[in-house]
Amino acid sequence: TRRIGVLALQGAVSEHASMLSALGAEPVLVRRPEQLDGLDALVVPGGESSAVARMAARVDLLPAVRGCIDAGMPVLGTCAGLILLAERVVDAGALDGFDRIGGLDVTVRRNGYGGQLASFEADVELDTASMHVAFIRAPIIEHVGADARVLATHDSRPVAVQQARVLAAAFHPEITGVDRLHRMLLSLID
Ligand code: GLN
Repeated sequence: TRRIGVLALQGAVSEHASMLSALGAEPVLVRRPEQLDGLDALVVPGGESSAVARMAARVDLLPAVRGCIDAGMPVLGTCAGLILLAERVVDAGALDGFDRIGGLDVTVRRNGYGGQLASFEADVELDTASMHVAFIRAPIIEHVGADARVLATHDSRPVAVQQARVLAAAFHPEITGVDRLHRMLLSLID
């Protein structure tokens, strides 16, 4: 059984854990760096990136996640998770000054799709199939650098990207029960 961590400081933790269980993996809630040891992959859920970064800073958790990525661990980040993984963040706001994970060669704009009232569900295209997902105070992917590639688009804007074993999406797939990115994450494990 694959042991898949779910960063569990704040946000849509239980939804990802249920989805991983349904795919036959064992979800492991991660709040401290030592809980990353021996995981096969990690999910960084959506939520509030500044809240996650503030809590993670107390135990230096996000640099430890970066270490796992650099060592080859597959990671899936959604929404706030994408913001934490992005190498560059525009309008970082309350996130400013906190350690993030970084390394993903994209520029994102926090709350680029607008505030809570601008949240919406939409069909996004991944390969040739569309999937119905939720955008909640979602970041806009403003630029995709040469090290990353676009996985999914909406209104011809990139909304999901991949760089080596890192998958990241501006939307929440788990809220509408879409498990394609979780399946991709599991397929990236050696
Ligand atoms: N706007 C949030 C942030 O900056 C992200 C929203 C989400 O994850 N649904 O963290």
